[in-house]
Amino acid sequence: MTTPDNSGDVRLSGISKTYDNGFTAVQPLDLTVPQGSFFALLGASGCGKTTTLRMIAGLEDPTTGAVHLGDQEVTHLPPYKRPVNTVFQSYALFPHLDIFENVAFGLRRRGIKSVKKQVEDMLDLVQLGEQARKKPHQLSGGQQQRVAVARALINHPKVLLLDEPLGALDLKLRRQMQLELKRIQTEVGITFVHVTHDQEEAMTMADTVAVMNAGRVEQLGSPTDLYENPDTTFVANFLGTSNLIEAEVDTKNGDDIVLKAGGGKLVLPEARCSAPTKAGGKVLVGIRPEKISLTHADDAGDIPEGRNRLTGKIADASFIGVSTQYVIDSPVCDELAVYVQNVERDGRLVPGADVVLHWSPAHTFGLDAAQSLLAGTVGSAGTEEEAAA
Ligand code: ATP
Repeated sequence: MTTPDNSGDVRLSGISKTYDNGFTAVQPLDLTVPQGSFFALLGASGCGKTTTLRMIAGLEDPTTGAVHLGDQEVTHLPPYKRPVNTVFQSYALFPHLDIFENVAFGLRRRGIKSVKKQVEDMLDLVQLGEQARKKPHQLSGGQQQRVAVARALINHPKVLLLDEPLGALDLKLRRQMQLELKRIQTEVGITFVHVTHDQEEAMTMADTVAVMNAGRVEQLGSPTDLYENPDTTFVANFLGTSNLIEAEVDTKNGDDIVLKAGGGKLVLPEARCSAPTKAGGKVLVGIRPEKISLTHADDAGDIPEGRNRLTGKIADASFIGVSTQYVIDSPVCDELAVYVQNVERDGRLVPGADVVLHWSPAHTFGLDAAQSLLAGTVGSAGTEEEAAA
């Protein structure tokens, strides 16, 4: 029986980083990135994600803890002795060399003479075979970044580290390159660790995302898991938009918790609640804007039984093509966000209209209100921009 290849596993055990000025950028962190996965470290500026990446690369010494790549401890190895390569936001290509020679550089430095086949294969991988004899300044930003990726991959690293590699590109090119990088990772099959502050980028590309906040990983999981089941208000607001409604635990009903919010009741599956569920305890009830349906108050009788419901008044409505984004004032929460797909638009849903918001209890999640207050992260319907600020 063959043992599985784990040489591309990245294992961080209790690593932390306190800089010389006494500031701790990364709190002791345990993390395993399995071989062959596309892993994203996601967080706002200053949360410690680049420092974490640099400790994996060997560009920064951890203050405590150990870094393993596969079974090999590399904590004190210099960068060039680690089986990793890093791609930075600044492509750092050699301007005087053409694209072929930029990609060939690593091989030539190792004294390899016949580089043609390898370089051509690598240029094909990043779809730049036609551009081989151009100089970097003759390429677009996205093409230059693909050269940087090819130049890193030609060394056959076990792990490719990407530090905001798309940060310098405009939005459209960024979106194209996200898909391109994902394709390249699937094709080469090595571990990618990608640092970004862009939640959409992390969710588009990565199998697993670690959301960092103030030097700690707040939550780790698949993009779907983080989005559908956030554990903290930080994650709920950093990944997309969440409506958070303050409520009090009333009773339990089978697998559900019944909560009091304003004068009404809301139902939450207990399995989707990360807060203590003792009667009288405070819970923040979370619901994503696109999970809510909006019904004019005159038609409230048509809403099926068993749905969570709140009353409110439309404060604002923005038509943005694919959907209409409403802001609703409700007795339990100001400014609830509701996104309704523009399929059959109800002309009565305009500012000033009385409405009922309703959704399936299965889409509801529960967060610890006390912890959120401590962390200063309570806020309804936080926007991505606010979360990223
Ligand atoms: P960004 O996206 O802005 O790069 P980041 O999440 O990658 O942010 P880091 O670069 O890891 O954050 O920095 C984390 C914190 O450590 C920041 O507050 C930063 O100011 C601080 N820091 C980084 N390098 C040093 C240093 N050499 N000395 C002192 N503090 C530092």
